[in-house]
Amino acid sequence: MQPVETRHGEGTSGFRLDVPLHDILTQPGSRTTVPPASQPQKLPDPVFPQYPELLGDDGLGPPMPPPKRHYKTDHITRAFRGWTAPWLKSRLLPGDFHPIIAYLFTEWKCNLDCHYCWAFDNRVKGMTEEIAKRSIDWLRDTGGGVLALMGGEPLLRPQFAHKVCYYAAKNGFWIYVPTNARLPRPQVTDWLADTGVATFNFAVDAVDEKRGLPKALAPIQSYFNYLIKKQYQYGYSVFFNVNICRNNMDDVRQLLTEIARDSERQANLHGCTAIRRYVLENPDHHKRAEMLVRMICREDGSRQFEVVSEDGWGGARKHVFPRLLEAEVEAARPDLRERSRITPENYSFEMAGTECVRGRLAYVIAIEPKTPNKYLARGRIFVDANEYAIIRVEGKPAKNPSFWVKSVHFVHDYDKSGSFWFPVSDRSVTDVRIFGATEMTIEYFDYAPNTSPLSASGTPGLRSFP
Ligand code: SF4
Repeated sequence: MQPVETRHGEGTSGFRLDVPLHDILTQPGSRTTVPPASQPQKLPDPVFPQYPELLGDDGLGPPMPPPKRHYKTDHITRAFRGWTAPWLKSRLLPGDFHPIIAYLFTEWKCNLDCHYCWAFDNRVKGMTEEIAKRSIDWLRDTGGGVLALMGGEPLLRPQFAHKVCYYAAKNGFWIYVPTNARLPRPQVTDWLADTGVATFNFAVDAVDEKRGLPKALAPIQSYFNYLIKKQYQYGYSVFFNVNICRNNMDDVRQLLTEIARDSERQANLHGCTAIRRYVLENPDHHKRAEMLVRMICREDGSRQFEVVSEDGWGGARKHVFPRLLEAEVEAARPDLRERSRITPENYSFEMAGTECVRGRLAYVIAIEPKTPNKYLARGRIFVDANEYAIIRVEGKPAKNPSFWVKSVHFVHDYDKSGSFWFPVSDRSVTDVRIFGATEMTIEYFDYAPNTSPLSASGTPGLRSFP
């Protein structure tokens, strides 16, 4: 590779890579031209979301501990069609041309200007829809199975990248998307992951932005966190790549140790604690009861409650509150938790429009339980249109909890604390035979992550469940 002087000012390293390719791209007349198609061609408009159940998270914050990756038949089929079939063909079929990995340069421009790269030269236009479609069709006909978007910055036109990935996925490609990570806001991550992108590659050279090295972790940390978290839902993998230069050696060390520390912190996250206030009111009978509880969520998701204080209506304190805590302890048991999660295994989903929730635009998705299981609900979930997190669940239990209960209607709200989403309030109205409507609210506050394993014994002197 021939280093050349750049247009950067004094004091900046002056090395640009791949001069011959840059010359081909920027010298008029030296580029190959493709004859026009007989009919104008366009990429199809992507259907989105194809998997509404994967939008956002389940409102329980980060995976604690990171769950096992579950590979479904789709993932295995896609990997076989992308890698194994083309490789087998290349070994078995006659002829020399059997591509396995194809690089599709959809952009040559970039929104950043790394000191070693030409891509900030924005004179070269991006690929057209027609060329992208014809390229993918041609690659498919030649038997290629892996498609890597390339640039420049491949996500410079996110809607175009969405169309390319959607069309390539429908044609059976295993897709790789590299990015400098400035542009894949959560919405873009969901667009691309929903098409079936197999791997994202985040390219970062420094911790904080510096002259000549704008690919930094600090400005994209929230996008990076979201991408990492969502891999467990969509089933893609994430690569993290750092170009080692003479002016980022300290950053490389720090980046690697920061990320290792983060992973270690995830692995060491031993659940969380929070305080809850339960208030139960029956206006017909002028009854009210209140209970303050400390909730301990252990690293395996199981829960323990300690009653800090109680006040008011004795019947509710004796018969209602303990049953609620016992039911929640049971539902959070590691062996039962999967049965209550908002997953395709438990629910069918249908888009029902959009609404504004606490000032945020949200997608509304109707959920229908696949079995009348007492841990499931029938109703609607509200998914934040920017962050794709569940911000509200409302409905009624799939199965009535008791003969004495005529109906239950609940609203669970979630909010963001740091980069994680936690429940903040539950409101429910239960219509009990004889007693009439009883309203219950649960407020959540004082969330704190645990950094060491919790003892199962609880605090001496406090009533505990279990
Ligand atoms: S982000 Fe990538 S494409 Fe853009 S200038 Fe830097 S190295 Fe080149």
